[in-house]
Amino acid sequence: MSTGESSRTVQVAVPTPLYRCFDYDLSAGQSAPPGTRVQVPFGRRRLVGVVTSQDAAADQRPRKCVEAVLDDTPIFGAEDRALIEWTARYFAAPIGEVYSLALPVRLRAGQSAAWSAPQAWRLRDDHPTPARLGRRQQAALDALRDGALGEDELRARSGLDRRGVERLSALKLITAAEDASPAAAGTAARLSDAQAAAVASLTARLGQFSASLVDGVTGSGKTEVYLAVAAEVIARGGQVLVLVPEIGLVNSMADRVRARLGRSPRVLHSGLSDGERAEQWLAARAGAADVVIATRSGVFVPMPRLGLIVVDEEHDGSYKQEDGCRYSARAVAVWRARQRAIPIVLGSATPSLESLQLVQAGQCERLVLPGRAGAAVLPSVRLVDVRAHQLEHGLCHESLTAMTEHLQAGGQVLVFLNRRGYAPAVLCHSCGWVADCHRCDAHLTLHRARNRLCCHHCGLEAAPPDRCPDCGDRNFVGAGAGTERLEHALARRFAGFPVLRIDRDTTRRVGELDARLARAASGEARILVGTQMLAKGHNFPNLSLVVIVDADQGLFSADFRAGERMAQGIFQVGGRAGRAQRAGEVLIQTHHPDHPLLQQLVRGDYGGFARMALAERHETALPPASHLVLLRAESTDTDRPLEWLREAATVGRQLFHDSVSIWDPTPAPMARRAGRHRAQLLLECARRAPLQSGLPAWIEALANLRNSRKLRWSLDVDPQSM
Ligand code: ADP
Ligand code: ZN
Ligand code: ZN
Repeated sequence: MSTGESSRTVQVAVPTPLYRCFDYDLSAGQSAPPGTRVQVPFGRRRLVGVVTSQDAAADQRPRKCVEAVLDDTPIFGAEDRALIEWTARYFAAPIGEVYSLALPVRLRAGQSAAWSAPQAWRLRDDHPTPARLGRRQQAALDALRDGALGEDELRARSGLDRRGVERLSALKLITAAEDASPAAAGTAARLSDAQAAAVASLTARLGQFSASLVDGVTGSGKTEVYLAVAAEVIARGGQVLVLVPEIGLVNSMADRVRARLGRSPRVLHSGLSDGERAEQWLAARAGAADVVIATRSGVFVPMPRLGLIVVDEEHDGSYKQEDGCRYSARAVAVWRARQRAIPIVLGSATPSLESLQLVQAGQCERLVLPGRAGAAVLPSVRLVDVRAHQLEHGLCHESLTAMTEHLQAGGQVLVFLNRRGYAPAVLCHSCGWVADCHRCDAHLTLHRARNRLCCHHCGLEAAPPDRCPDCGDRNFVGAGAGTERLEHALARRFAGFPVLRIDRDTTRRVGELDARLARAASGEARILVGTQMLAKGHNFPNLSLVVIVDADQGLFSADFRAGERMAQGIFQVGGRAGRAQRAGEVLIQTHHPDHPLLQQLVRGDYGGFARMALAERHETALPPASHLVLLRAESTDTDRPLEWLREAATVGRQLFHDSVSIWDPTPAPMARRAGRHRAQLLLECARRAPLQSGLPAWIEALANLRNSRKLRWSLDVDPQSM
């Protein structure tokens, strides 16, 4: 034991839902500077944590010791740690959980972070003409004809795995090279005037912080702008991080990068195996990748030479994580750009009101790319009044007629319905009994192909009942239509025109989403049926008609963002129509054709809609005109959440600045879910600072309230859904 001399102590962020770090002693000979992973005892468990700071122990109290130091050099540098710690502070998230989020699973589990650059390969000068080669092997040899390639580039271009490459070497066809030859970049498109102006403006800002909104419809050339600026960043020795809202968009972005910049990007998303993910992450951290394309949590990946961040489809709700650590990757990306003094580019056809507010406030430059006919303009839009009309599986006569016309003229039709399954409710035709989830305030959805009743809120699945539990009859009907039902109905009605459904149910298998998107884009599928998965960023050149089956879902919601989301969905999906030879058309089925929001949509102008919506948010003091924090509580006990939130509100009124309004607790929009009763408490303030500064003390007080351990509670800063 140390005598007189103080022992050395480190503060460790361990992956637990606690808001603090824990102290551990280092033993003699151990060294663990901040950013290093360590293995520590925690309760009865043994956890891998990250050192956040170190100091001489303030006292001689005996402490637990670090069991093992896992990294020779810190895995997170000072800037990476500052980013993670800012995220934990800003989003009121437990620090250990944010560190966890920032690490790939393998590294979280303590696996070595050692990484060496992959081997480069070239053709052997004397390589024999092989008798018979597989398609991938041939592709590998073809890829090497123009010079040496790094192993991952070779694997990406040929589809071979590591063993396959080694086999080519064993066959004496290829051999190790010193280095990859400089890649041949594709020729850049001749930029339009608007594109050239955007690229010039962005290039002039390299090396300093700036935020820019690239505002243009799908197909207006936004990606071309990102790539031109990225090429400049790479030429100056920098790295580029491109965020996309979902896995389905990673591959097409990676193809574009490969074609335009002549190099394979590293990719990070949840579709990768744990091993691949760690490999990609370590390569990015080593600076071995010039471009990284990532979904949400990739925003934390260490990149030593980061020079530009692009957030594509910046309005997309997927950038906000809605469970566990409730952070917004877009907000983290903006802070990261500021920290690194680099530009951030936000791209969208339907910018979020948050971004438009920043533009109005002069904090974000807006670069408009005019589309086919002015920015964010829809093809001709018609509202279809479905009141008192007979619907055929959710579609009315007018929509079906339009579909027939477009199909016969050679066009492609997209039918958009944000509801998967066969029927959203099953009821007894004799007595009116409805199949409800016994754990949620929700009906069960019928999935007919699997013959299951499913709850889309808690995951419950059950076999459909044989007889009605109330009257004993066997007279069930599926009420309403989901995408599965539409697919069946359309296949029957439009025989001869292939129907393709794209939703979460049809794309569960690995590779299935890409395969289906390819059939949609090629025009092979003539009728597309899908949920919002189809509304995101994809390019369908033959699409000429979009039918929006139900616009009313978004009109009357308790959530103040529902209208914005609906408008974005309609513009995104409608914006895909009419890029082919013929003019595009969008039909919106509704029971409320006079609703002002729908009237704005008919004018086909997202900018006009957004101005109206933003003015409304200012009048009602809702974000982005104000800032919100939502405290949620849930329990199996009926009354406990509301009681606990009342106490939380009382404490909050003492702790927060007067400018923070603390509302009264209310039941959540879905008051019971997965067997738990849910309630929420809203805090609102015109400025961010008073909210932020009161949070730490409030969190501490919340943890110490009487019943805090008897229920689940969580904080949501800048909540995106209420
Ligand atoms: P967005 O990202 O806005 O959807 P893209 O950059 O993907 O738009 O452009 C849409 C299509 O138009 C792509 O096929 C792209 O290669 C092409 N394109 C973009 N800009 C130009 C240009 N200046 N000249 C020729 N083709 C272009
Ligand atoms: Zn019945
Ligand atoms: Zn349920």
